[in-house]
Amino acid sequence: MARRLSPILPFLALALAAAALASCGVPARPERPAWRTQRENACLAERRVRPSAYVQIANEMDGPGICGLTRPMKVTALQGGAVAFNATATLDCPMVATLEDWLADVVQPAAQARFGVAVAQIDSMGSYSCRGMNGQRGAPLSEHSFGNALDIGGFVLADGRRITLVHDWTRGDEQTRAFLMDVHAGSCKHFSTVLSPGSNAFHYNHIHVDLALHGRSGRSVCKPVPHEIAAPPDPALLANAASPARGAVEDDDSDTGEAPPRAAFEGGDTAMGAYGAPRRQ
Ligand SMILES: [Zn+2]
Repeated sequence: MARRLSPILPFLALALAAAALASCGVPARPERPAWRTQRENACLAERRVRPSAYVQIANEMDGPGICGLTRPMKVTALQGGAVAFNATATLDCPMVATLEDWLADVVQPAAQARFGVAVAQIDSMGSYSCRGMNGQRGAPLSEHSFGNALDIGGFVLADGRRITLVHDWTRGDEQTRAFLMDVHAGSCKHFSTVLSPGSNAFHYNHIHVDLALHGRSGRSVCKPVPHEIAAPPDPALLANAASPARGAVEDDDSDTGEAPPRAAFEGGDTAMGAYGAPRRQ
């Protein structure tokens, strides 16, 4: 006499088959960590940045891989148009807000004290770019991959004088070197990562600043260690301090057009992890 099959057996078989498919089928696409979008949204909700002719909110940039940002900002100038970018920068809201604070608290006071004029332009060498930290395949993703970083190649003062990291960090006159050290040291009070010339071989020509989360303790990276600098000159002497502008800084802002890094498809977001040896950001 044949035994009757239990009526639940077919359903059990279906459930097992579904579980097997889920475990060895196509893996789910890695997602950008939620904290990034949450931080962007909080920045906008708190109105830390207000859209203007110089700061415009674009559509979400989603991918390749986990690269991108929810509310990208296309920035042509800061401080209400007073400080231009050499090329449109694509940044997230927290970076734009922090750059505004940094200009007001660090850069402009230093420029006034050292040169008697304001900074009128930031020469960017890169903002959003889906790439690995060291530019090699398989490397962890840089904060640039999320619009959460900026590479600063130099500044142009309101009198037309151009200051570059590649020349003036070590070979500028005393006040120009001191200005760049002011900017470096002050950057470390505003950003969670600051890598300037001397931090490693990759940063010989720019200051990298970002707002990475370095673990839950919120520690920061500031390299090289800021050192003693010359006192500002007598303000009475500043009227004659301007010198002729030098040649244009290299302008290679934005993506390089190369293939996206493999880490973008592996969820290679290390910002919450340990921060290892110095490397290009
Ligand atoms: Zn960088």
